[in-house]
Amino acid sequence: MPELTVVVPAYNESEGLREFHKRVSAVLDGMPDLDSAVLYIDDGSRDDTYAIMCELRASDPRVATLRLARNFGKELALTAGLDHIASGAAVVIDADLQDPPELIPTFVQHWREGYDVIYGTRASRAGETGFKKMTASGFYRVMEKLSSTPIPRDTGDFRLLSRRALDALGQVRERQRFMKGLFTWVGYKQLSVV
Ligand code: UDP
Ligand code: MG
Repeated sequence: MPELTVVVPAYNESEGLREFHKRVSAVLDGMPDLDSAVLYIDDGSRDDTYAIMCELRASDPRVATLRLARNFGKELALTAGLDHIASGAAVVIDADLQDPPELIPTFVQHWREGYDVIYGTRASRAGETGFKKMTASGFYRVMEKLSSTPIPRDTGDFRLLSRRALDALGQVRERQRFMKGLFTWVGYKQLSVV
């Protein structure tokens, strides 16, 4: 049973998945005292994402795969992945390398200090269009008005969740899910890493 599982939802990511795995493996290899695994979730991809996942699984004993019957969207793909982690903590990360896997050891360090949710906050939104920045900022303004749960800005799903945070999250069975809100909602000790 791994102490830490990296959970990666992927939809049509065949182009970059091997490179992603190379980067994540190097990071995990750098933490030999931590028993780790990688769980890839194929969210009904139409390209050969799943075939590549199987290739990675065949060559790396750390890898497990989950394949959804059709495309359910990222929130549910992520939920399916998190539901399959029976023990230990999880790191959630996108497959497209927009989140730097090299930050995982920093997350682990804070987890060992006693934090339950450690999330990556972007220092800048470089590379995104003005339109995306404007709509993102509008989205967060509206969410802050509507919700009593504060949702950290400039923060994706990239984070580490302790076992008790995962257990709390597992009790929430909404079908229309906004994971960034739920991750915050579980409470406990949370920390932003810029
Ligand atoms: N993703 C998924 N199902 C989908 C759409 C996306 O599993 O229907 C995955 C995608 O492969 C990536 C992550 O979710 O690993 C984030 O997706 P994307 O980069 O499109 O979102 P954004 O960067 O805009 O948050
Ligand atoms: Mg992305």
